Amino acid sequence: LGSRVNKALRQLADAPVVDEQLLDAILREICAALLASDVNVKLVQNLRTNIKSVVNIRELAAGINKKRLIQKAGTARASMDAVMDELCRLVDPGVEAWKPKKGRANVIMFVGLQGSGKTTTCTKLASHYHRKGWKTALVCADTFRAGAFDQLRQNATKARIPYYGSYSESDPVQLAGEGVAKFKAERFEIIIVDTSGRHKQEGELFAEMQQIAGAVQPDNVIFVMDGTIGQAADPQARAFKEAIDVGSIIITKMDGHAKGGGAISAVAATQSPIIFVGTGEHIHDLERFAPRPFISKMLGMGDLGGLMEAMQDLKLDKNKNLMKNLEAGVFTLRDMHEQLQTIQKMGPLGKVMGMMPGIPQELIAGTEQEGTRRFKRMMTIMDTGRPVELDSDGKIFETQPSRLRRVAAGSGAPTYEVEALLAQHKQFAQMVKKMGGSKGFMKEQMGRG
Ligand code: GDP
Ligand code: MG
Repeated sequence: LGSRVNKALRQLADAPVVDEQLLDAILREICAALLASDVNVKLVQNLRTNIKSVVNIRELAAGINKKRLIQKAGTARASMDAVMDELCRLVDPGVEAWKPKKGRANVIMFVGLQGSGKTTTCTKLASHYHRKGWKTALVCADTFRAGAFDQLRQNATKARIPYYGSYSESDPVQLAGEGVAKFKAERFEIIIVDTSGRHKQEGELFAEMQQIAGAVQPDNVIFVMDGTIGQAADPQARAFKEAIDVGSIIITKMDGHAKGGGAISAVAATQSPIIFVGTGEHIHDLERFAPRPFISKMLGMGDLGGLMEAMQDLKLDKNKNLMKNLEAGVFTLRDMHEQLQTIQKMGPLGKVMGMMPGIPQELIAGTEQEGTRRFKRMMTIMDTGRPVELDSDGKIFETQPSRLRRVAAGSGAPTYEVEALLAQHKQFAQMVKKMGGSKGFMKEQMGRG
């Protein structure tokens, strides 16, 4: 699936001119991929219309003959950017995500259906803030489900987060109010309120939700949605938005078979930003959400941002050479080689490779063994490089193409594979530079959000 989009995009990049026919063909592939990912049908139609009008506007603005849009150089890029921009807008409502303020109590209320992952996720979020130095507490306002408080208590204890709740069948509204008041009095900065997700009647659930909101006066309401529910996302998100002032979204279970389309529906229905995605059952399985990598990944285009996040765990500060280079604003091929080697030690290679941009889906699909083989090929290519090449920023291959051919021949890889690797390195390096050298980079990596 992803490879079809990749192919279409390659076609776009290779075409001498971009005309309507080609754009249509590409849009067809992209829309097919989106539909297969459970994106709401109406949204896909809108998207197609939007992209076409945006591209046409650009064409008119450029004052260029209608049939042949613009010469390749600018156009493929511009069209691609337009496509990506529109796609990103699907998951970016254009409002800034709510952020807690220091020196006061910030009350966050979780809402969502039973089983969507509220209890799990509110501990993850609490732990996230706790690790960042916020004085954080949890309040369990789910008295509906037997064992709800137990679950929260266990999670909270493991994460060393203070909690409040009750085993008895007390009134959830009162309980929530008490808990929040208690933690406010104790000068907690982040107070997260977990709520129940099921009632005999939907109306009752929403009524209770509204009453709890009335009692705790949340600064932010987070709507938690199961990422695997497919087309059901749209009506569900809509119902919640109508019942309560949703401020942010967290999509859970994105580690499994979730195709991501539901996330887009949730944003469209609530006009709220996705702040995190849940990627597993454990407390650290919470990733910051970013539109572009999410869309890229959905289309099978690779996710550089995710890779950078994965790199966060690599303890970059232990790598003296890299740090020195980063300080100088340099990220050499050798640096990438070392990073990839470390990544290899991180386990599930397929998962890591899946986040690398430019790697066709068919190469990361399949078995772990196949992934490992692919990885080894990359390493072989780099190992074939001479020291002067490895210690360079890669431009040396552009100015002296014979080097490229030599590495290709020496490693037994086709030239385009070497070029792909160089392109990846370039993206990598750009990302590192964008983060502002070592200081910015480390700050970004250490103090997320
Ligand atoms: P709640 O009813 O909304 O409070 O949902 P829970 O927090 O109890 O979660 C329901 C189930 O989903 C539990 O088995 C969780 O372990 C699981 N779960 C929650 N988030 C994730 C996630 O991001 N990935 C996976 N794989 N499972 C999750
Ligand atoms: Mg729960």
